[in-house]
Amino acid sequence: MTEATAHAEKLEFKTELKQLLHIITHSLYSHREIFLRELISNASDAINKIKFDSLAHEDVLENNKDWKIEIIPDREKGTLTVSDNGIGLSREGAIDQLGTIAKSGTRAFLEQLRTQGIANRPDLIGQFGVGFYSAFMVADKVTVISRLAGDPKQGVRWESEGQGELTVETVEKPARGTDVILHLKDDAKEFLDEWRLRELVKRFSNFIEHPVVMEVEREAEGKKEVVEETLNAREAIWLRQKREVKPEEYSEFYKQLAGDSEEPARVLHYAIEGAQEYKVLLFVPSHRPFDMDWGETKVGPRLYVQRVLIMDHCEEMLPPYLRFVKGVVDSSDLPLNISRELLQRNPLLEKMRDEIVRSVLKDLAAMKEDEHDKYVPFFRALGDVLKEGIGRDWNNRERLADLLLFESMKTESGKYTTLAQYVEAMPEGQKHIFYLIGDTREQIEHSPYLEVFRSRGQDVLLLTDPIDEFMVSGLREYKGKQLKAVDRGDLEEDKKEGEKTKEEAERFKGLLDYLKSKLNEVSEVRLSKRLKESAACLVAPEWGMTAHMERLMQRMGRGELAAGAKRVLEVNPEHPAVVAMRELHEKKADDARLESYARLLYDQAVLAEGSMLKDPSAFARRINELLARDALGGAG
Ligand code: ADP
Repeated sequence: MTEATAHAEKLEFKTELKQLLHIITHSLYSHREIFLRELISNASDAINKIKFDSLAHEDVLENNKDWKIEIIPDREKGTLTVSDNGIGLSREGAIDQLGTIAKSGTRAFLEQLRTQGIANRPDLIGQFGVGFYSAFMVADKVTVISRLAGDPKQGVRWESEGQGELTVETVEKPARGTDVILHLKDDAKEFLDEWRLRELVKRFSNFIEHPVVMEVEREAEGKKEVVEETLNAREAIWLRQKREVKPEEYSEFYKQLAGDSEEPARVLHYAIEGAQEYKVLLFVPSHRPFDMDWGETKVGPRLYVQRVLIMDHCEEMLPPYLRFVKGVVDSSDLPLNISRELLQRNPLLEKMRDEIVRSVLKDLAAMKEDEHDKYVPFFRALGDVLKEGIGRDWNNRERLADLLLFESMKTESGKYTTLAQYVEAMPEGQKHIFYLIGDTREQIEHSPYLEVFRSRGQDVLLLTDPIDEFMVSGLREYKGKQLKAVDRGDLEEDKKEGEKTKEEAERFKGLLDYLKSKLNEVSEVRLSKRLKESAACLVAPEWGMTAHMERLMQRMGRGELAAGAKRVLEVNPEHPAVVAMRELHEKKADDARLESYARLLYDQAVLAEGSMLKDPSAFARRINELLARDALGGAG
């Protein structure tokens, strides 16, 4: 050990961590006891890591395979220590991992605390990857003494009062692993109590697979003696028979695994036997997991091979669109002693994945059928994630399509139909599944695009998830019926309407040509088959971009992809305003008012498609001119 590395260094926490620590030390009072769960979970992770590393490098074990996590309350010193013989930390590791590296979850957690009201939900801390710092809820000083496995000389002592600074120095530490020593605050001495600790471990860490032990004094035959007691059940619950596991055991296991405080919506537990053997225990959450919205979601269940944890998230086992599914898969056949990279290319894994994905989708279908009341909130929270699968998982497209819920013109707001129900209810002669995409139901449900469908008694799906554009382009059809956007392309007409249109086209030709010559923004002007009440609307050409898609592109910063996309102006030949324009144009094609009317017609169509006017004040001026003229005309 050289002078340079041995010296004590004073360092500052990363800015966001300082903010986090300030809140933790000053404002979080409820659920303080969760600190123990977080520290035990870190200790257990550290043991899993060395267990895994030792498969390839047995020497890191230093002949110590007696995995355990010790809880050591010291009443005299007022300290509580959580000690493990896991992988340990190097000096650099301690500096990075415990204070100076930006953690993506910190901001998200701060935001959560701010919006939920501070002091409300510190129990969520573990889900944001900053669980260690919960120690400062109960301790006014935390000392970490650690040594990396396989490096017997270099131990590290990390210490902080949680005030923005930390110190590190190099120390001797004979035993591999980490001791986290909490100097308990005066009002946190309850965490020295044997019964309190026992209860907390049972409640929060019962299913941690490594023993959590504590030395306790027992009286046996009049003699006092100190014994080491294991506080947790350490159960691999997934290895048990389904019928032997109580619902509350599943839910407790889920909560510990997922760091969730709510019950899971579904539990999927089964064993595959035969050519391959593995056990599956998966959970579908009942709400949207927090980590889902800050881009850090890890995909896939924990993968064990014969009870050895191989990885926390086996991405090969579930596709990203099922990233909300949490749980465990334990295989008897996958090779234990190979690298992750090789394991990931193992053909057995692919077979397992196909089977597991199908089982999950089947289970979701069962929830939709049998527990609809549960399915609806699940779908509201996570349906957009599921929809990602439509374009990505060709083999399961139909299965996924059957899981989707849709609002439609005919459902009340907040009520749903399905593709199967939609197709079932299609009036005779309807060939397509119609849909309209927008930002909200309110914005689109009175849209001019729906008028003709309402009059024909046909339903239109109203889609409002940002992902829906991509979903429908991936789905394309369902049970042989093509999906068709009602704000795009030409509509086929009813037979009886055919004759009338031809004759109208003749009569309106002059006006249509005039409009086209004045409105450079549009690619074409034609008579509409979809308008009943409105005067005009804009539609995308058959293969062009709809207004909603264009807005989506702009929001994603890809506005250039949408630039220059022209739409078709459709006018309603039965609307009095359009009829009046036609007559005016016939009588006096150079009437100055005509151009202003053409602009108004176009601008209202822009508003109706939910877009912004390029020049709103010009629009207002034209409206006001009309108002003034009309009012004067009325008075005169
Ligand atoms: P998370 O565990 O979610 O990454 P934490 O804030 O709880 O977040 O821990 C930060 C990091 O500190 C861990 O990722 C790990 O690298 C390290 N660490 C914490 N506790 C231990 C421990 N007992 N042994 C080894 N490393 C640890």
